Amino acid sequence: MERPDGRQSRIMRLLLVEDDAMIGESVRDLLRAEGHAVDWTRDGASADTALRTHTYDLVVLDLGLPHRDGLEVLRALRARRDRVPVLIATARDGIAQRVAGLDAGADDYVIKPFEPEELLARIRALLRRASGRTEPEYTLGRIRIRPATREATIGDVPVVLSAREWAVLEALLARPGAVLSRTQLEDKLYGWDEPVSSNAVEVYIHGLRRKLGADLIRNVRGVGYMVPREET
Ligand code: CA
Repeated sequence: MERPDGRQSRIMRLLLVEDDAMIGESVRDLLRAEGHAVDWTRDGASADTALRTHTYDLVVLDLGLPHRDGLEVLRALRARRDRVPVLIATARDGIAQRVAGLDAGADDYVIKPFEPEELLARIRALLRRASGRTEPEYTLGRIRIRPATREATIGDVPVVLSAREWAVLEALLARPGAVLSRTQLEDKLYGWDEPVSSNAVEVYIHGLRRKLGADLIRNVRGVGYMVPREET
């Protein structure tokens, strides 16, 4: 989705872990309205499974959960050296609880009930911080791409990409030289309960190749897609 100011916002894939149906629904809708893809799990065990099997840009984690406490889920996540940003959202508001959450590896904390604006601001801050960690620039011939600022140019000419084209491109740029399957790319694009049209990835790849040239994104027949390693 392109904003009126011409800047592009990237689709982020978020995991929401919340057992309260009303809170979960309102937070999910709020995040979706911001343009994020959201998976929602309602207990600690499912959250643990989701985190082991999917890649997320950020996790909003409740602590009081059925089956497995949120803190346990978080400790297991960090023990696997997974550095996905985690925002704890909980009604446990004691100082000791807050310290325990941060010590377990949370990046930030909001206390329920929270204002939607505060939640969104904290999420934006965490995503900004996280994007600062990615490689600053990719170049191939005259193509230059800066994922953090959503800038792409061929020579001096800026290229405008849609949010979903950026999502596909970034997944490929994260591992130049590696082939990603269509399913891996689809996974970057959508939450579980959003319908994926069968040719969605092809459509975005086609758009990217049309805008950036066929050399950048290579089709490995029957396997998937890749961008070549940078020339040195
Ligand atoms: Ca709860």
